Amino acid sequence: MLDHDTVGGESFYDALNVGSQRLAVGVVNRAGHGISDIDRVVTPIAVSENQGGTEIEMVGSGPGTVAQLKTAAHGVETDVRAGSGVAAARFLVHITKLSMSGSHATPDLPIINTMWSNLWRTVWKGPPIAAATPLHLFSPAFAAPVDFLATRILMADTTLMDKLVSLSKRRGFIFQSSEIYGGLGSVWDYGPLGVELKKNVKDRWWHAMVRARDDIEGLDAAILMHPKVWEASGHVAGFTDPLVDCRHCKNRFRADDPRIKGTAGQPDAQCPVCGSKGTLTEPRLFNLMFKTFMGPVENQAAIVYLRPETAQGIYVNYLNVLNSSRQKVPFGIAQIGKAFRNEITPGNFIFRTREFEQMEMQFFVKPGTDVEWFDRWRAWRMEWCQELGLTAAKLRFHQHGPDELAHYAKAAFDIQYEFPFGWQEIEGVHNRTDFDLGRHQQYSGKRLEYFDQAANERYIPYIVETSAGADRVTLTVMVDAYREEAVEGETRVVLGFHPALAPIKAGVFPLVKKDGMPELATEVYHGLKRRFPVFYDDSGAIGRRYRRMDEAGTPFCVTIDGETVANRTVTVRHRDSMAQDRVGLDQLEAYLHERLTA
Ligand code: ATP
Repeated sequence: MLDHDTVGGESFYDALNVGSQRLAVGVVNRAGHGISDIDRVVTPIAVSENQGGTEIEMVGSGPGTVAQLKTAAHGVETDVRAGSGVAAARFLVHITKLSMSGSHATPDLPIINTMWSNLWRTVWKGPPIAAATPLHLFSPAFAAPVDFLATRILMADTTLMDKLVSLSKRRGFIFQSSEIYGGLGSVWDYGPLGVELKKNVKDRWWHAMVRARDDIEGLDAAILMHPKVWEASGHVAGFTDPLVDCRHCKNRFRADDPRIKGTAGQPDAQCPVCGSKGTLTEPRLFNLMFKTFMGPVENQAAIVYLRPETAQGIYVNYLNVLNSSRQKVPFGIAQIGKAFRNEITPGNFIFRTREFEQMEMQFFVKPGTDVEWFDRWRAWRMEWCQELGLTAAKLRFHQHGPDELAHYAKAAFDIQYEFPFGWQEIEGVHNRTDFDLGRHQQYSGKRLEYFDQAANERYIPYIVETSAGADRVTLTVMVDAYREEAVEGETRVVLGFHPALAPIKAGVFPLVKKDGMPELATEVYHGLKRRFPVFYDDSGAIGRRYRRMDEAGTPFCVTIDGETVANRTVTVRHRDSMAQDRVGLDQLEAYLHERLTA
């Protein structure tokens, strides 16, 4: 049960997590925009069992209250906010009646109506929960309720993804972009722990692909490129999704959205959100590339694109790298960098976003040797994924069938991971033939052939590409590492990261803030900090400090206690087993180093 005093503090979030069936929903001051702080909640007032789920009637309270049940674009997913950006739950919605009350402002009815009708049609595919705990109604100051759209909600258990979103915010891994303005759709910011985690993923990739090999060079090409690059690559003509708009409710859908009944553009077609018939436009091609303008004049000639993949920066630099590095085919070029796609159906946290980072490597080979190189790269990339510590049984290959293959590809395999929302691609390995260099040769008029001195022959190299998303791999690492354990009647949440990926390697704690312990702990902290990222924490009970480090995925905690002062030994507590060792201060650094690099 929440109580008013805990709202706004960490305990509020804790309460949300512990009772994962609970529901709290943040509120907005204006309809659909700007989440207010969590001093107001939309509160379920009646809970009853229905159709294998739980129906909850909700009431909002406080000045200008509007429940923000924010629907992702086109109502495909519903992101229900608990306070400032904590997603509480997803819903199987059965709307019949919603009573909302606001003591000041009148909710903006059309927007709310659209919001609710989007929500209405959202089908949550997870298992329903058996029971839910009604929340304490802690702000009783209701004015006359405004009945605007009536609803009942079937509440589903908080999903693993929701828990991760919540934990990410609580511990500083990932925040929603521009959150104080209500957030920007499918764009995320990495906080202090997230930036370290993602950097560790990228560093491992860079090490495996560039530093540890003699036949791959690194590159960091610019995001903005000559617009002709995207004509040559086929992105201007072909990087499109067919979309339809509803003229009535103004929502936009992919033309293949299974919820559309009838044929878009025809009178029988029915909008999946507002239910209107004949209001859906004919499918129109929508290019996924973001456009901007170069220079002061915003006209057609000034259009440049934000790159939708990093690969093209490698192709157009192929000759520069070849000539300056004195590499010979077969060789590769690797880069990590931002890419942008105006995705129509983004979602699942950082799985599919509009701004993301790719880790791509293009390997240039002699035609005829491409199949064997492709097989090698496929195996090497799977090994790399396994070495991240990902559960082997949750990784598999998916071979692209003829209908999935890109027009330029001879063969393609995805490395897939089994996410809570199903098997999904985390990396692609593609045999791109000589398509890319051939096209750039044609469009630029520059010869991009390779002269093989030994064989005295010229050819356009074939390319084997390995393309992974840094954000998607980071998400995979987090999903795979997340676990909950019952410890002494409480739930312990742990991110069991591979030590090499953990953002913090060790927490350093004085047991109490007296008797020389803080001074000694500070000394230990500064000593270790020269070697690894460590975190000093002297606040709260030691058990809570351990729990915070468990949630941050920190493999070790070092506690300085009375014995340390007496005999210069510390307690080292292991994240996974919770076992504790007594280690001499003079051995501590070597002890941790050995275990972090094992
Ligand atoms: P998907 O079908 O999942 O959108 P894709 O086949 O379009 O992916 P590629 O173009 O092959 O993906 O991109 C290579 C990698 O880049 C993907 O395996 C994924 O890890 C990452 N990636 C692609 N699009 C996104 C995105 N919108 N957000 C985050 N990562 C992405």
